Amino acid sequence: MLHFTAMRRKLIAANWKMYSPPEGWDAADSPYKPDVGADIVIFPSFLDVRRLMDAKLVVGGQGGRAEPHGAFTGDVSMAMLKGAGCQYVLCGHSERRKYYKETDAAIAEQVTAAIECGLHPILCVGETKKEHDAGKAKAAVKKQLQAIPLSSYFLLPTSYSLSIAYEPIWAIGTGVNALPDDAQAMHMSIRSLLPKESRESTRIIYGGSVTDLNAADFLAHPDVDGLLVGGASLEPKRFQSIVAAALEI
Ligand code: PEP
Repeated sequence: MLHFTAMRRKLIAANWKMYSPPEGWDAADSPYKPDVGADIVIFPSFLDVRRLMDAKLVVGGQGGRAEPHGAFTGDVSMAMLKGAGCQYVLCGHSERRKYYKETDAAIAEQVTAAIECGLHPILCVGETKKEHDAGKAKAAVKKQLQAIPLSSYFLLPTSYSLSIAYEPIWAIGTGVNALPDDAQAMHMSIRSLLPKESRESTRIIYGGSVTDLNAADFLAHPDVDGLLVGGASLEPKRFQSIVAAALEI
């Protein structure tokens, strides 16, 4: 099978969730800074977006609403994130699906709104432990993907740009990562479901208990185009090793 990994620049994303920036984030040798060898994107809390951008980091929103404005207390919109200078946005993170009951339909609207206003969405998909144990992981991920009108994005005037994060829910924050071979198999399955125009150019990244110890094993696989890192991204030294693993590929 032919692989076109050379077309796909590695994407290393740090999801800081509801934590403040770790000490040293703005040091001269900060691992969170952009690098010529890979896309390094930080997802801080909304309150920290501005100061990270002032420090010239590439920043994304951890989520956003599709509606440009309105009576949605506590939320921000895709348009506001773009206006504030964000370049990326996470859509459908499992914690949003779980705690905020975000549905596939709402996530589809968010992805569309993000692309329409020029943000680069990272669509998160992944199966539960129950689905995994029942051998239904691929079917569960397929259902989540099919809820998103991927083909219609080619009709939008903005340049189409979207990445997918495969994040098995049972692996997020548990210390139990998927086997890199299993992630590769899932990424191939996801790629086969993408519209053919974007199949080889779309980055599919893995997330779920990635650390400095397993990052290289994931990145060695041809369909693993990067990593979405939660816990380990809050430790600058560990994150530095993860970035180094991506730069070595
Ligand atoms: C995440 O929050 O998307 C994540 C993958 O977290 P962790 O790396 O801690 O499992």
